[in-house]
This record gives sequence, C-alpha cells and structure tokens, in this order.
Amino acid sequence: MGGGTAGWLTAARLAFDHRADQNDGLSVTLIESPDVGPIGVGEGSWPTLRMTLREIGVSEMEFIRCCDVSFKQASKFVAWRTGQSDDYYYHPFTPPEGALALDLNRAWLKHQADKPFAFAVSAQAQLCESGLAPKQIQTPEYAAFSNYGYHLDAGKFGQFLQRHCVEKLGVKYIQDHIVQVNPGADGAIESLTCRASGEVEADLFVDCSGGAGLLIDKHFNAPFIDRSEVLFNNRAMAVQVPYDTPDQDIQSSTLSTAQSAGWIWDIGLQSRRGLGYVYSDAHISKEEVWETLKTYIKQSTKQVDIEALKPRDLSFRPGYRSTPWVKNCVAVGMSAGFIEPLEASAIAMVEICSKTISNELPASKRAMEIVAERFNTRFVQRWESIIDFLKLHYYLSEREDSAYWRDNKRASSVPDSLKDLLELWRHQIPSTADFQHILELFGPPSYQYVLYGMGYKPEERITASRRDNDELALRNFQQIETTLQKGLRGLPSNRALLKAIVSQ
Ligand SMILES: Cc1cc2nc3c(=O)[nH]c(=O)nc-3n(C[C@H](O)[C@H](O)[C@H](O)COP(=O)(O)OP(=O)(O)OC[C@H]3O[C@@H](n4cnc5c(N)ncnc54)[C@H](O)[C@@H]3O)c2cc1C
Repeated sequence: MGGGTAGWLTAARLAFDHRADQNDGLSVTLIESPDVGPIGVGEGSWPTLRMTLREIGVSEMEFIRCCDVSFKQASKFVAWRTGQSDDYYYHPFTPPEGALALDLNRAWLKHQADKPFAFAVSAQAQLCESGLAPKQIQTPEYAAFSNYGYHLDAGKFGQFLQRHCVEKLGVKYIQDHIVQVNPGADGAIESLTCRASGEVEADLFVDCSGGAGLLIDKHFNAPFIDRSEVLFNNRAMAVQVPYDTPDQDIQSSTLSTAQSAGWIWDIGLQSRRGLGYVYSDAHISKEEVWETLKTYIKQSTKQVDIEALKPRDLSFRPGYRSTPWVKNCVAVGMSAGFIEPLEASAIAMVEICSKTISNELPASKRAMEIVAERFNTRFVQRWESIIDFLKLHYYLSEREDSAYWRDNKRASSVPDSLKDLLELWRHQIPSTADFQHILELFGPPSYQYVLYGMGYKPEERITASRRDNDELALRNFQQIETTLQKGLRGLPSNRALLKAIVSQ
C-alpha cells in the first residue's frame, strides 16, 4: 500500500528477488491512491542505494538521466561546533584509513594535527571541497574512485521506479484509493477494499502509506515511541531554488548549516537546488524560519527572485513504531517511523527493511510470527541507534547562543546508551565492539568522523597499546596523500561528469 519511495523500493526488491515476472514467481501488487500524493521530499541517499539499484537491475546512467541525479560523497556540517563562520567538518562516505586497526585519533593528533580529522584520514573531504566527482566517465556503472551515494529528485525517482517495477519486474499496479481494511477471524488482514476496483486479497501487506500509517497505525494501532524529548525537530520548510546559470558548480556533499533552532540542508541537483530548514516549532516560528531561509538563499545566489519562491512547510513526529510488523502486515518508510533527515537515513532504512523482508520472507503463518518478532526487535535497536548518532551532533556542540542549543545539552535529553558510549570514548576510539549486536547503519567510521570533527579529544593513555602503531599510521597518511593527488589530477568536476553522462 503506497507509491512513495518506500512503496516502490519495497515492491522492486520483492518482485526482483522473488521473480514476479515469472509464472511461478511471487505476485506483487502496489496500490497507490490517486488522491494522496507522495511526500515528495527526501533528496539525499546513502551509498547503499547504489547497491540496491544495481541489485534490482536498474541502469545507473538511465537513473542519473531520469531523476535529476547528482553524486553525493559526504555531508558537510557548517556552524555545528562553535557557530563561527570558519566552523565546519566533514562526514565522508569513505571510512577513515585504518579506522578499525589504529587508534586513529591519537595518530592524527600526533602526525597530522594541522589538518581537520576528515582531511587527514581520507582523501574524500578534500575531493568534496574541490567539487570533484567520485569517478570518471569511463568508470563502469556503480563503480567508484571514492565511495558515493546520490542526490535525487524524489518525485522523479518514484515515477522512475514505477516504470522499472511495472515494465521490467512484473509488479502489478493499481491506482485506487483504499477505503477499508478487512480482517479475518485471527485478526490478520484478509483484504483491502479499493474505492473503484473492489477487494484485493494478499498473504502479506506492506504498509507504505507514509505518515498516515493506515494499516499499522489506524488499523493495528501499533504503539508509537515518541522521541521528541531527545531530538526536538518536528517541522521542515522546504523550497526549490534555481541555479543562477545552467553551468553553476554542483556540490559533492549535502551542506548542513546549523541555525538558531535547527539546520538548513542544501542539495545540488542537475537542474536546481533543494533547500530546507529543519526546525523545532517550540523554539522558532514559521515566519522566522522563512526569513532565515531567504537570507541564506540571498547569500548564495545573485539572480533568484526570492519572493517568487514557494516554500512548503511539513510537520512530522519524531519517533517510530515499536512493532512495525503485526500479524501479516509490515510497515516500511514513514509509516514505520521518521526521525529528522540529518544524515539522510530514511531511504537507507527503507532499503534495509525491504531487503530483510525479502530475505526472510516467511512461507507459513508460524514462520511469519517468528520473523515478525525478530524484525521488530532488530528494528527498535536500529531506530535507537540512529537516534543516538543524530543526538551526538547536537550534544557535542559548544553552541550556547539560543535556547535550542542549550536545551540540546540538557543531560535529561541524552539517551543513557549515548552517555555510556561517550564515557568509553573518552579513552578509546569507536570500534566494532561498541556495536556488536546489530547491523548498524552508522558504525565506527561515522562516529569517528562526527566525534573528532566536533573536537572530542581523547584522554591521555596510561598504558602502551599496539594500536598506537606509528609505522602503519604514517604509511596510511602517505597512501591518502597519493590517492588525493591522483583524484585531484584525474577526476572531473561533479557538473562536468553529469553533463557528460546526460549527453551520452
Ligand atoms: C523534510 C524531510 C526531508 C527528508 N529528507 C530525506 C533525505 O534527505 N533522505 C532520506 O533518505 N529521506 C528523507 N526524508 C524521508 C523520505 O522523504 C521518506 O522516507 C521517503 O520519501 C519515503 O516516504 P514514504 O514512501 O514512506 O511515504 P509517502 O511518500 O508519503 O507515500 C505515501 C503513499 O501512500 C499512498 N496512500 C496514502 N493513503 C492511501 C490510501 N488510502 N490508499 C492508497 N494509497 C494511499 C499515497 O498515495 C502515497 O503514494 C525526508 C523527509 C522529510 C519530511
């Protein structure tokens, strides 16, 4: 149920893996209301999307041409630490060289302290600063010189996936409004009634109805875990901004600039920029948000008629369903939960959910109960781990210039799990041991980039460690420099590569 990014990605994953295009394959039907449009935001992805698109048989060139795509290699965080104009750090997609073998923060402070952490431990931050693409035109589809995901037009992406699903993967598409849920004697859903096409029966129902959560919430009333006491942002004002000239540079990263009551995302696509102020309505008014956005746009454009722009204001409730899988219904996407888009984890969560459902697709009712329980346990852990990681960005800030930043430092707003990790990391670097229970979206490399980007310093070591390996560290730093020089010499700009792809 639902034809947003979650619905189409899940349909594609199930249809591809279970051969919906064959007579003996799984039958996958997607129902989308003609009255309710998809949310239409969600422009930043993770490198996981490369794997997903390749796995479901999408041509990368076609995807880039059809969805206004650009390459994303990192998030660049501006004004998060001190709020000053020279305050920025990177969270690149390429893990730090030696992230798991070395006490990298100490090696960095000893040998490369003149550079910010991300610039010392990876070539990617500098490649992004130079506006370079992650590959050359002759690099094969999905292959990379440096790890990348995408920026994309969410509306075009939905339509693109729809064509791929229907024309190539055998997904049946019904455009109709679902008006009723029909349960059987055991409480599981037997069918959905559509306004024009009548009843649609199935064994498994995937709720991708967005924030409405029409099956998981309105029908099953699955508990919602509200996390607004940890992450305050509950609204976003989004606006599309044209480039001054068609050849304007395209950034290689998502720019996230901290504001007095939230942050502004700035994403460059091929034909326009997508911007938005994500904010807490307890800390700022809608009018102030629009004024701030206008000032931001004025500073970064020369020719745009700002008064003609049409911002959209969206609200969301930060949190997730503690039982996204109930009986024969599983929620994926906004229906399962949403935490603000800092670090763009929502589409990646959709990819993980749909892959898990597909890999573990239960063949009987009893198997469904086991799979559902396991799914629910793992996904609650995953949501909590994302919440910890996002809170880290706020909690480490030195900003005290508004109630928003002061409130974010309140100890009562910080999960105990994050406090525990920070205590460990006073003496040791984030490692896999800190995340051993589940497949994490954000593992040690991501934590290292944010921790040391935000200026978190290790305490003195009392005893010696083989992880302080100068020889290996120096070799790594040399290797990074070689990679960087190779990239600076050989990579085209983001804009140049996209132009070459589109004109092919
Ligand atoms: C401000 C903001 C910024 C974001 N930025 C990012 C980002 O950078 N990166 C990222 O990964 N994610 C981001 N997200 C999240 C991302 O937009 C969503 O996760 C993604 O679009 C998936 O949405 P969805 O498919 O779950 O829901 P929707 O797009 O809302 O789709 C819901 C679907 O359900 C259908 N439907 C509803 N009611 C009925 C009915 N009665 N009968 C039939 N069909 C029905 C609708 O027709 C629609 O097709 C952002 C979200 C917000 C709010």
